[in-house]
Amino acid sequence: MSKERKVIELNPPSYKGTHERIVSQGHECEYCHGNGWFWGRDANWESVKVPCPICQGKKEMKAIIEITWLPDNEKTTKK
Ligand SMILES: [Zn+2]
Repeated sequence: MSKERKVIELNPPSYKGTHERIVSQGHECEYCHGNGWFWGRDANWESVKVPCPICQGKKEMKAIIEITWLPDNEKTTKK
């Protein structure tokens, strides 16, 4: 089955800055497979819908990627 793939292309900043923040939204929660909830039991042992603990019932997740750019002082020399 086809699957959408998200890739980050790294480009050093062209402005004066060392930090970047990328927010990637719309990722289906894999923990609940996009359902947003699971079947659980309440105090009377009745079936109840329990929100997914990972996406909290939102069905989707977002990723916040923080990138810090630093001078490459520790570049290993190839022999
Ligand atoms: Zn979930």
